[in-house]
Amino acid sequence: MLVFKFGGASVKDADGIVNLAKVVKKYDGNQILIVVSAMGKTTNALEKLTKAYVDQDDEVHTIFDEIKKYHYDIIEQLFDHSDAIYNDVANTFVEIDWVIEEEPHDDYDFIYDQIVSIGELVSTRIVSAYLNKAGIKSQWIDVRGYIHTDNTYREGIVQWDKTRASISAEIPSLLQKGIVITQGFLGGTSENFTTTLGREGSDYTASIFASCLGAESVTTWKDVPGVLNADPKFFKDTIKFDELSYSEAIEMTYYGATVIHPKTIKPLQNAKIPLLVKPFTNPGEPGTIIKENGRNEFLKPVIILKQNQALLSLSAKDYSFISENHLSDIFGMFAASQAKVNMMQTSALSFTVCIDFYEDRFKKLLKLLGQDFSVKYNDGLTLITVRHYSTESLNELKTNKIILMEQVSRNTIQMVVK
Ligand code: ASP
Ligand code: MG
Repeated sequence: MLVFKFGGASVKDADGIVNLAKVVKKYDGNQILIVVSAMGKTTNALEKLTKAYVDQDDEVHTIFDEIKKYHYDIIEQLFDHSDAIYNDVANTFVEIDWVIEEEPHDDYDFIYDQIVSIGELVSTRIVSAYLNKAGIKSQWIDVRGYIHTDNTYREGIVQWDKTRASISAEIPSLLQKGIVITQGFLGGTSENFTTTLGREGSDYTASIFASCLGAESVTTWKDVPGVLNADPKFFKDTIKFDELSYSEAIEMTYYGATVIHPKTIKPLQNAKIPLLVKPFTNPGEPGTIIKENGRNEFLKPVIILKQNQALLSLSAKDYSFISENHLSDIFGMFAASQAKVNMMQTSALSFTVCIDFYEDRFKKLLKLLGQDFSVKYNDGLTLITVRHYSTESLNELKTNKIILMEQVSRNTIQMVVK
């Protein structure tokens, strides 16, 4: 059996959905489970909606109307007015109405997951209905009954044994009846609340299903020809890798390569399931295959940009040296505020660290740190990682940039820049 994942860009408009059906048709005769993300930039829009609701900003209704309009415009291009999909989608959106009618709950991450998850619940309804309309038998399932997580909202930790049991008990027989369509990015808690697995987590969803079902392969369909050495949005003359090893792919995603979600590879590596990254506009192309003993040929350095970074410098308020005790306290505070540490440096009197900047988590972190440390910080920075670098490539990258922190190892150089 095969697992396919279609990301937001592949289903951003009616043409995308028509194309998805074409790709799936090419694989006629296979058992396929399809994981779908929210359409286009819907997750970003739902994040904005969540923030507006929590801030009790009137804008919340405008944002919600825009999200609905975007989806209904697509539906109109694909279905007759009498189609049941209008009702299904309305019934899904109404869950947001129920949330926003009430006073905001004080757990931001909890509210976030209940609202943002609607993006995938709607997109999968539309894709499934369209496949059926196009003569491809498909069954919509609610992933929250299969991928079980703890209640770490916005970063649900998968409970593998329970998940494996649910998936293997029911999905194989469904696959015999037709294609199975489900939501990426979402999970469910034991109290039936919705969790999300972290931004861009749909790849991870595909890998969880593949691992539990012993799939032949996972294919993630992208708007790029495969895994490239750099993001073509920022660099020209990029090259595509034909093959990569699991470990190189893990390294790349760890440093922030967004082509694959970082948690995706490990379950596949454990089960020796190859991951194909292929262009949805050209399904016949080979793309990139990530597999055991994949060849890593670095004709060009791999450049990974991570934006929206903050650099913090801490020094103890009592002017003491930065000691192991301090470091252990500091890491405790980072963990408590879910701060993601990307790079760090210690000196006698200070500890400097580069983290992903999420406003709400950052505020919480500053409050915790502020009790014992004086904190200075810069935000709006970019972390550049170059793997398999050459002097030439580095010189080019460093031109016209202010480098705030730099670290070099044999294979990898990292710098935080303004
Ligand atoms: N829709 C979610 C996001 O944009 C999950 C995904 O696309 O993988 O983060
Ligand atoms: Mg997405």
